[in-house]
Amino acid sequence: MLKGKIAVVTGSTSGIGLEIARELASSGCDVVLNGFGDAAEIEDIRAGIELKYSVRALYVNVDLSKGDQARKLINETIKEFGKIDILVNNAGVQHVAPIEDFDSDRWDLLIAVNLSATFHTMAEAVKNMKKNGWGRIVNIASAHGLRASANKSAYVASKHGVVGLTKVVALENARQDNGQNITCNAICPGWVLTPLVQDQVEAWAERDNIPVKDAEVALLSEKQPSHRFAKPEEIGAMVTYLCSDAARSVTGTTMSIDGGWTAK
Ligand code: NAD
Repeated sequence: MLKGKIAVVTGSTSGIGLEIARELASSGCDVVLNGFGDAAEIEDIRAGIELKYSVRALYVNVDLSKGDQARKLINETIKEFGKIDILVNNAGVQHVAPIEDFDSDRWDLLIAVNLSATFHTMAEAVKNMKKNGWGRIVNIASAHGLRASANKSAYVASKHGVVGLTKVVALENARQDNGQNITCNAICPGWVLTPLVQDQVEAWAERDNIPVKDAEVALLSEKQPSHRFAKPEEIGAMVTYLCSDAARSVTGTTMSIDGGWTAK
């Protein structure tokens, strides 16, 4: 369905981003991977995608907490493949503490990775998408882009920022009666069991001195009416839909995949 499209997925060495990259590759995209991790493991992931889906996969090692490196990711992609069609801003970090104890460096890091990197990558990508007349941007925000929770000041602020920024970029590129076909949407997942959430489950288990499995149940029943973790593939399937031609009128939206979290 997306054969010949060039897709960049930030933070795709783990969790949701890796599954999004695999889903896009399975639809025929060449993919650009990014994120931290063990070099040999990342090479296995990259080579595995090429072998399984018969597409090209490139890994670009940039630290998205730095604006110039975030821009470099897009420019390296254009240098290597000649264009960028799909940008998925997925990289994200979390830190949990009440505001009076929230370390300033952590605040800066969360805003830089979760929000500012999204600004920098979109700014570079949109230039190229406009030139080509086609583009799909999907920002992985969160239920925390629509609702708040205590002790997550930087995360909630950054994800609300991503939702607002998504709407602005959607509006700036909304017109399609001029030959352009560019959309920008956010996906807002609830709980998905990835390393980012595993850390929070383990912290909960330690705090309440309960088994990790019981902490998982407690975490889910507090927020997510389905009482079930969404799977990374479910987020990947939504990205693929948003990149399809069927979704060309879907822009500026927030797609919740949250088991009913934000229905409350
Ligand atoms: P994860 O920790 O498994 O993956 C995060 C990815 O981002 C990794 O590849 C990591 O290397 C990369 N990354 C982190 N800092 C980076 C940096 N400075 N430069 C480059 N890459 C960096 O987390 P995940 O749960 O898969 O989260 C992916 C996205 O989904 C995040 O934006 C997160 O906020 C969002 N999200 C997750 C959940 C959930 O329940 N897991 C819910 C809502 C939203």
